[in-house]
Amino acid sequence: MKKKYGEKVQRLALNAGFTCPNRENGKPGCFFCDETGSGFTTFAGKSIKEQVQLMKERYRRKGIKKFIAYFQNYTNTYAPLEILEQIYIQALDEDIVQLDIATRPDCINEATLELLKKISVRYGVTISLDVGLQTANYHTLVKINRGHTLADYINAVLMIKRFGFEIVSHVILNLPGDNMLDVIESAKILSALGVDGVKIHSLYVVEGSVFGEMYKKNQIQICSLETYVDRVVRFLEHLSPRITIHRLVADPPSIGTLFGNWGKSKSEIVNMIENKMKTEDTYQGKRARFI
Ligand code: SF4
Repeated sequence: MKKKYGEKVQRLALNAGFTCPNRENGKPGCFFCDETGSGFTTFAGKSIKEQVQLMKERYRRKGIKKFIAYFQNYTNTYAPLEILEQIYIQALDEDIVQLDIATRPDCINEATLELLKKISVRYGVTISLDVGLQTANYHTLVKINRGHTLADYINAVLMIKRFGFEIVSHVILNLPGDNMLDVIESAKILSALGVDGVKIHSLYVVEGSVFGEMYKKNQIQICSLETYVDRVVRFLEHLSPRITIHRLVADPPSIGTLFGNWGKSKSEIVNMIENKMKTEDTYQGKRARFI
């Protein structure tokens, strides 16, 4: 961000009140998702303009002057085009340098991308799309009720690339049922497709999710912390060195978490990952075939 914008940039997580095709009409959603739509915005219920202003004030006190408006909760391309345009534009002012839009691969289409292109030109902002893959194991995608397939994800990435937007993908490296082969294949697919960034998550389990109910009944197995750390290191080794790492471990919510990060802090886990890489003298891209 410093290279791109010349200074520190703060991301503002916004809740635009969208829904998700995988949760509406009583659908259970992805099994790890609760009714917040996998987001932690602070000022939900307020208008987008108000949310932006309130958060900017908070960070201005720390000397930050440039911001990214991040539409985080639910599926932020899932509405008629005119509504999308109204909402995105509300977030823009002279301090916003980038719009980050989290969505699902099956909710991207050319009309939405045309709209985003128009906004990026008119307002001079960078557009980045957060598109969840979670895992390249298409059997797991069905088992966790993602509601889209691996092919949907590949199609979405290729379409977004044609429009020239940045793409950040999310992966969860310890989904029940996945193994090291799935982790390595996920790294290879992201690299081959040329995504720009990746957010690596550890699965956490929250109240109100299907996994939450299964966890209470002892019906899901979550791998050990050591296995997670090992998977992150192998993932990084097989990932193109060109891809920016936005995170290495999840950030579970402070309320309603039934299982999160094996009781460790984020920094403890990041240290474990870094120490393992140092001990093994390895690095991102060491085994990457798709650079
Ligand atoms: S796509 Fe996102 S909002 Fe929709 S059910 Fe899955 S995690 Fe929740």
